[in-house]
Amino acid sequence: MTHPSRKIWRDGEFIQWEQATVHVLSQSLQRGTLAFDYMSVHQTSRGLAVFRLRDHVARLVTSCKITGLELGYSADELIDACIATVLENPGARFVKISALVPSVEVELVPQDPRVSVLIAAYDVMADVVEPHLRAGHRPLHEAPLVSLKVERHFSNRREDIIPPQAKVAANYTSPMMAKLRARAEGYDDVLLLNEQHLVAEAPTSNIFIVNASGALLTPPSDKVLLGITRDSIMELARAEGLECTEQNITEADLHAATEAFLTNTSVGVWPVIRIDETRYSDGQAGLVTVRLRDRHRAICRGNDAEFDHWLHYVGE
Ligand code: PMP
Repeated sequence: MTHPSRKIWRDGEFIQWEQATVHVLSQSLQRGTLAFDYMSVHQTSRGLAVFRLRDHVARLVTSCKITGLELGYSADELIDACIATVLENPGARFVKISALVPSVEVELVPQDPRVSVLIAAYDVMADVVEPHLRAGHRPLHEAPLVSLKVERHFSNRREDIIPPQAKVAANYTSPMMAKLRARAEGYDDVLLLNEQHLVAEAPTSNIFIVNASGALLTPPSDKVLLGITRDSIMELARAEGLECTEQNITEADLHAATEAFLTNTSVGVWPVIRIDETRYSDGQAGLVTVRLRDRHRAICRGNDAEFDHWLHYVGE
């Protein structure tokens, strides 16, 4: 859609929103090799801040390494470019940084291997959702509670094809179809299993459960994207005196849990009220979930001195 005021950073210069395009035959569009990362921007009393900017950029660098995309920029240069893009786009709530190969490919390989980097800073509702769809659209970051369907048609969190630690476009193709199917059945999202039929993650979120002893569990790091929010919540849980471990989670563990929640950049902590036929906390957010959600929110607003170092202040 045309957006007259938004500017997108492309390889060192700002271009208009509608100029940020690639050819239909580009290597990244045809073969899915596009690494990206997504960060949140917060208004605080000390000005605008990006949550854990350095960690997000580090994850992009890792995604590119895993995928074989050679970035022509250092992490510090990318951090500066993200800050410049936020300042160039007032009112932006999220930043998306993409690394892609714009060259038209021939027999799987690009003719020109140059990797292009684009950074967009925007507000999903105002800038992306089409005006005629806005009335019926609930932005993810305002969705209070979530229901999940366990996806059993496929398990694609496999290290031998694209490791789950790489945030790469092609990793989202089959989860997107699964999510569409689940939406048609009245669920909000899906929960993906790994090849051993153990719980992995949702298509764009990590999962935590609370067991009967009040301990938090989340699947081990080898079969999931290393979510920045996941990492933050593990550290916060420990700061709150809660036990939190990475361990295999079976479907039986899900159904025996007292609480469950998802974590991601868009929402923070997202209380799960239902997984398949199992309902949690009488359809409300559970107590442990609320405690962590509220503390994470306070940090993002700049109201928690202990974790203020997670905010990367970028100016007004
Ligand atoms: N898993 C996947 C596959 C994702 O795409 C995301 C969203 N980036 C997450 C988990 C959550 O990661 P984060 O907390 O860094 O947003």
